[in-house]
Amino acid sequence: MKINQEQFEAYERVRASGVTNMWAVSVVSDLSGLEKDTIMQIMKNYSELKDKFACLNCGKANDGAWTITDDLCDDCGKLKGEVEQ
Ligand SMILES: [Zn+2]
Repeated sequence: MKINQEQFEAYERVRASGVTNMWAVSVVSDLSGLEKDTIMQIMKNYSELKDKFACLNCGKANDGAWTITDDLCDDCGKLKGEVEQ
């Protein structure tokens, strides 16, 4: 199963909200709209996914508040999805 950015962000929004323990997979599923299998997959590969969807310029992790293609990074101020010279 391949996790896409949209799924990872849905997971991160729930995590960042702090409303539930992420091990309560049923609750996380209700809040995020993700399937339980998807959530388990994200938990298992969390650090890898966090790197994968981080800002390409400065490495700031995606906290679920932005999407890679249309937002500026809070840290470096550059477009998160594009490496600037
Ligand atoms: Zn950045």
